[in-house]
Amino acid sequence: MSVTHRLTAPAPGWTATADVVVVGSGVAGLTVALNVRKAGLRAMVVTKAMLDEGSTRWAQGGIAAALGEGDTPEQHLDDTLVAGAGLCDEEAVRTLVTEGPDAVRRLIATGALFDRGEDGEILLTREGGHHRRRIAHAGGDATGAEISRALVSAVRDDPGIELIEHALVLDLLTDAEGHAAGLTLHVMGEGQRDGVGAVRARAVVLATGGMGQVFSATTNPAVSTGDGVALALRAGAAVTDLEFVQFHPTVLWLGPDAEGQQPLVSEAVRGEGAHLVDADGVRFMVGQHELAELAPRDIVAKAITRRMQEQGAEHMFLDGRHFGAEMWERRFPTILASCRAHGIDPVTAPIPVAPAAHYASGGVRTDRLGRTSVPGLYACGEVACTGVHGANRLASNSLLEGLVFAERIAADLAERHRAGELPERTVDVAAARAARPVPLPPSEARAEIQRLMSRGAGVLRSAASMADTAAGLALLAEQAHAHMAEEKPADPRVETWEAANLLLVATALVAAAGQREETRGCHWREDFPERDDAHWRRHLITTLTASGDPVSTPEEQ
Ligand SMILES: Cc1cc2nc3c(=O)[nH]c(=O)nc-3n(C[C@H](O)[C@H](O)[C@H](O)COP(=O)(O)OP(=O)(O)OC[C@H]3O[C@@H](n4cnc5c(N)ncnc54)[C@H](O)[C@@H]3O)c2cc1C
Repeated sequence: MSVTHRLTAPAPGWTATADVVVVGSGVAGLTVALNVRKAGLRAMVVTKAMLDEGSTRWAQGGIAAALGEGDTPEQHLDDTLVAGAGLCDEEAVRTLVTEGPDAVRRLIATGALFDRGEDGEILLTREGGHHRRRIAHAGGDATGAEISRALVSAVRDDPGIELIEHALVLDLLTDAEGHAAGLTLHVMGEGQRDGVGAVRARAVVLATGGMGQVFSATTNPAVSTGDGVALALRAGAAVTDLEFVQFHPTVLWLGPDAEGQQPLVSEAVRGEGAHLVDADGVRFMVGQHELAELAPRDIVAKAITRRMQEQGAEHMFLDGRHFGAEMWERRFPTILASCRAHGIDPVTAPIPVAPAAHYASGGVRTDRLGRTSVPGLYACGEVACTGVHGANRLASNSLLEGLVFAERIAADLAERHRAGELPERTVDVAAARAARPVPLPPSEARAEIQRLMSRGAGVLRSAASMADTAAGLALLAEQAHAHMAEEKPADPRVETWEAANLLLVATALVAAAGQREETRGCHWREDFPERDDAHWRRHLITTLTASGDPVSTPEEQ
């Protein structure tokens, strides 16, 4: 298999080498880099912006693991399977929950400081879908920032890890056998490594995070444009479960026209006892689910959306006034500050909240060693679909997934290296040139893609709403093709490469969501309101056709 399509870009003007090149510097990428180093491999981390600019540093609630007294991996497994609505890969979940507790202890050994009680034990909170307190947190509600700080500091201290910031990875390079052999990238730098270049490597690890930016309102930072999924599709890899986008139920509502990254009000606020109330002050989650406000996220997001429709309201409220000022300041300093910065004081007023795109449960399909369907190409963290989340991610399982599967990739690479199965690779230059160039939409296409996706493929979907979205996306693609044919293409630059990636992942997401004619997990079809196990208890695998269109095929049952 070789790369069938590539982003339109100038030919590489410089080359660098590494044993393993890791794309992305969140919890997943940095954990791979630190661990392959221990095996004596030279690692290079390339990242689109600054090292800490992915989702990791925004994570608030914490990291889930069976660390508390009386808790067991088996109970964590049960909660994860329930949230996943029949589509989790049970073996992958078992791997996550059994290796999770030690992976968290190793993270602590790397330097991450978690909140502890007076007895020195790690404090654990609860989040939606968990039947126990099992979420470890740091800095109250600044868990991701602390994890990021610890990992960034560890990679900076390791002279065997080369770090390249402001480097947008474009496409995979392969050798004549179709094995990953490196990648092309664009560096916004000075000196030798400026502009488009190539990194040659024995293996490539994608850790590019999520794709929340395909929607107008998201909790994800600006870098979360689905680049890893788009690259994998162009490289001929299989991606799966793209239709399962988790919408976080409680995102601070900043007005009907708010766009881009929105402040999150963590589920841990509900875990500590805040109530969801409607415009009349009624607690509408009570009686809807045994866990009320702490029901799995999809259930809460749907209940909020339904109540908003019934009341013609643009948001609901989260009421945590009974916490008092001292608890807000100690336990949720980040959320308190971000609400106050927007003129809302949670100590004295309920917080306006509405659902927004939060987490991609699907992604590049991998096995339990992080291997994709392209040899030598690995994926971990949010960009990957290891099978642990199924149709809906259980809260705080994603940082854990990033850690556990990054460690497993590093272990596999170390094993292959020891066995002499990780030789240097020679890039098949002719194959790279033969890949079809993907035309670039203009940078303004980003806002149009987000608008189309939010309108037709958001929390609530139907065949009609998605047909409109698909038609709008197809028009953008046609325009980009027409401009290329007329020799008036958009300039190749970060904004247009990101727009091309967003367009591809949005098109793939809508193709899968349109095909899944049922409601399951975080995929909610107005026109197919029931779960349909007979037809749909299976995954949709998406690949690119020869003409570059994403096509989704149901997996054999
Ligand atoms: C507001 C918020 C709160 C959250 N809270 C929690 C929580 O409490 N618990 C939990 O478990 N999860 C939480 N999550 C989810 C979790 O933070 C993410 O799933 C996880 O951090 C993803 O880690 P990652 O390493 O896969 O990706 P990220 O941390 O997103 O890192 C991706 C990296 O890839 C880089 N990159 C992307 N594209 C390219 C490219 N083309 N070239 C080069 N580099 C590229 C980015 O710049 C970035 O460095 C939260 C997410 C958000 C947004």
